[in-house]
Amino acid sequence: MKYAAFLLLLWPAAASSSCSSTAPSRAASQAEAQTFLDSYTTRYQQLYAEASEAEWASNTRIVEGDDTNAVRTRAASEAMAAFTGSVENIEAARALLAERDALTHLQALQLDYVLYNAAANPQTVPELVKARIAADTAQVEKLYGFTYTLDGAEVSTNDIDDILRDEKDLARRLAAWESSKEIGPTLREGLGKLRGLRNETVRALGYDDYFSYKVSSYGMTTEEMVASLDRINRELRPLFRELHTWIRHELAQRYDQPIPELIPAHWLPNRWGQDWSGLVEVEGFDLDGALAAKSPEWLVKQAEEFYMSLGFDSLPKVFYEKSSLYPAPTGASWKKNNHASAWHMDLENDLRSLMSVQSNTEWYETTHHELGHIYYYMCYTNPDVPPLLREGANRAYHEAMGSLMGLAAMQPRFAQAIGLAPPTTDETEKADPMQLLLKEALNYVVFIPWSTATMTYFEKELYADELPQDQWNKRWWELAARFQGIAPPSERDESWCDAATKTHINNDPGEYYDYALSFVLLFQLHDHIATEILHEDPHDTNYFGRKDVGEFLASIMTPGVSVDWREMLRDKTGSDLSAKAMVEYFAPLQTWLEEQNRGRTHTIAPL
Ligand SMILES: [Zn+2]
Repeated sequence: MKYAAFLLLLWPAAASSSCSSTAPSRAASQAEAQTFLDSYTTRYQQLYAEASEAEWASNTRIVEGDDTNAVRTRAASEAMAAFTGSVENIEAARALLAERDALTHLQALQLDYVLYNAAANPQTVPELVKARIAADTAQVEKLYGFTYTLDGAEVSTNDIDDILRDEKDLARRLAAWESSKEIGPTLREGLGKLRGLRNETVRALGYDDYFSYKVSSYGMTTEEMVASLDRINRELRPLFRELHTWIRHELAQRYDQPIPELIPAHWLPNRWGQDWSGLVEVEGFDLDGALAAKSPEWLVKQAEEFYMSLGFDSLPKVFYEKSSLYPAPTGASWKKNNHASAWHMDLENDLRSLMSVQSNTEWYETTHHELGHIYYYMCYTNPDVPPLLREGANRAYHEAMGSLMGLAAMQPRFAQAIGLAPPTTDETEKADPMQLLLKEALNYVVFIPWSTATMTYFEKELYADELPQDQWNKRWWELAARFQGIAPPSERDESWCDAATKTHINNDPGEYYDYALSFVLLFQLHDHIATEILHEDPHDTNYFGRKDVGEFLASIMTPGVSVDWREMLRDKTGSDLSAKAMVEYFAPLQTWLEEQNRGRTHTIAPL
């Protein structure tokens, strides 16, 4: 009786409390979530800044035999891992997300991010995480500490690239190409170890494998991502087949050789055959010539001025004080990583870039690209975007911004406007637009089979299918043959590890498709800017000084990852992700190439 009475008494109270508490309990959930997120963010930013500083030192000052940086980087990574992967943080985020509907959209997104981060370092398996960090650090040391040699003398990767771009003698080319692959075997065991450790680590938080884990940040499964990439590759395949046929004939003539079915890798102006644009010089548009007369400092300043002309701020002082922008001086007792990158050191205002700028077209484009990342950081570092969401709408957007500005900076009217190309008064002096288009296609279109297929399939098979180590090199060259139409100069057995010669395979694993998607996005964005904002031919625009273009770009960059990337794309351009704009851009070239290739045999299959 007593019990029943108690229940009766309690019931109305409980009912009324649950009724009137809907709002307060939402508020309570949100307050609780905010308390957790505030404290998480404070600690996360501290650790992030420490890890960035340590990694920055590891990349900009590599001293053989000195492990100070390695020890510091490892310690910082371990501290970061211990925090982001901590059992307390995983449990807290899961508990708060159990009431997802009670949270604000931004809170839910941040908590999702906390869990995504935890999967890289779950402290439910602390020994595994520690082993992975040690293996990662060891691999990066080997990667950047490697001494390339050619004819017994030390060379840099810039030297090798120069030879592959300019040298006509095939024996010299072969020696340079082979030199670039010497590093592979030194990375093979480390990559095998990392594959296992990366997979096991994310499996502890329920992901199938490391590749699927990385793909998940697009809100997609591995199958969906591969299907999207296949579609893009297929859309561009007819054009790529024409380019492949055309270049086989061009190169055979250049080197006075029979026409090959697959292009020997050392014939191409790039270590992996990912960019063939170095093969075409456009008369009347020789940027290399004009740039050789400029200083490397001019290249960086010019890129900054372009962004400022669109209405963006000047670069912060810290950028010039702390970046590492030029090659290590000859004879220096240290080395640096020559691969360009941009850094958001503390998720606030410490912005830096690591480059080795030289006065040529490649670095001219690269300075615009890297500053694209820096301006993206500057845009989303604002009070409306919490530090945990200071990222691109997806990883490809970040790349797309930089690449878009690189493309814009290479267009004739732009180059003329900044005095790099002479003004055209006479029609006959004008650079041939078809040659310009060809040069662009040899960069952008040629990159698609490499990025959507060779790299992506290899990494997918490496992680998701656990491709046995004694098949790596064979598979690598099968993919290169089928998708890129390239063959190694001679038999490459399993003692080589040619995939590992690509930086990203080692230290940006499972996300190379970002670059493919970024190219597709950049053409969608460029098409929109040219036709809807500038009302100019997409092949010959001049963004310089256009504040309306700057506003459009800023509106995409400012929200960071706090908005859905698909909605953003639809909202800004009116279409979904598609290579249509890219195919249309190169349509005149397709017709031209079909004409050139009349009577020639295509030696790679359609997809
Ligand atoms: Zn980039």
